[in-house]
Amino acid sequence: MMAQFRHVVSVSGGKDSTATLLLALNKVQREQIVAIFCDTGNEIPVTHAYLDQLECHLGIQIHRLKADFSAEIAGKRLFVARDQRTRREYRTAPVFDAQGQPVPKRDHRGNILYRTVRRDGIEIREPIQKTRKVGGGRRVRWSNKAKRRALNVLYPTGNPFLDLCLWKGRFPSRMAQFCTEELKRNIAVAYQLDLIDQGFCVVSWQGIRRDESPNRRHAKKVEHVGPHLWAFRPLVDWTAQQTVDFVRAQGCPLNPLYSQGQSRVGCVCINSKKMDLAQVAFRYPEEVTRLAEWEHRVGEASKRGFSTFMCDADDRVDRRAIFADLNIHARVAWAQGDSGTMDLFDQLELPVCASAYGLCE
Ligand code: SF4
Repeated sequence: MMAQFRHVVSVSGGKDSTATLLLALNKVQREQIVAIFCDTGNEIPVTHAYLDQLECHLGIQIHRLKADFSAEIAGKRLFVARDQRTRREYRTAPVFDAQGQPVPKRDHRGNILYRTVRRDGIEIREPIQKTRKVGGGRRVRWSNKAKRRALNVLYPTGNPFLDLCLWKGRFPSRMAQFCTEELKRNIAVAYQLDLIDQGFCVVSWQGIRRDESPNRRHAKKVEHVGPHLWAFRPLVDWTAQQTVDFVRAQGCPLNPLYSQGQSRVGCVCINSKKMDLAQVAFRYPEEVTRLAEWEHRVGEASKRGFSTFMCDADDRVDRRAIFADLNIHARVAWAQGDSGTMDLFDQLELPVCASAYGLCE
């Protein structure tokens, strides 16, 4: 007997995933299409309302999936309560000789240590540079005060984004963007593997465009990912404007956030552009209040005692100074402060479309 196919379309509330769903509905039998939405818990409510509207408009159910970190948080509670480590963590700096040449690291016999690195597709062996400790280091162990503070708030809230940050003791950042993996990719993959276990062959429709980012410039249109699992990316050659035009030509609504000037929709993103953040703060001040509450709670659950939603690398020792400069209210003030944002606010008093895609009729 031939295995049945299931075409899984991951919908985010953005234009690309909506266009992908429309293409799937045009090309594949409706019964074979499964639309999923990975709910991060950090979306602006307008996006949830848009998904409801999309369901009614297209006559298809969008399955809402949510990550659950209860077990991880329980594990962290135990870890924090039992932590008795004694070592310290140090920052390091590279060592150079009197001529300014890097000093190689050696083992206890005096042999130079090497590592293998890959450059332009070629593997090269190069010496490891010696480093020295800088400063007095930080205690690795949780202090009793920090333990009490963290154990007070380390409980699952049911919101995937907040629970993930409570578990990690920090918000994601550009360098550690674990939110995408934990809240979206892993959940979608687990759902597809479940379908495969039920005996289906799965085609994962992904609304990825090559011109979106350098990481995606080599994205393949069709890819065999694993047994019974294929990725299909019908929009790889499209531009953002083509996607918008296609959705509109199909008579399908777009997320209203685009008309409000957001360049990307879905989460209030840790990578938000200045303008996006200013727009969110202006139109949805309650979201900023929510993020400020999250910063407080995640800060309580972290060893350092503070955490900021929009992280920046910061070497300063004074935690209060870092938090004062980087907390969400300070970031919003920065986003609103210069480079014409106040002009934009003047415009926002009027019922105009602020979209970059010309969504206003
Ligand atoms: S990277 Fe941004 S949009 Fe993606 S999950 Fe993280 S916060 Fe949300």
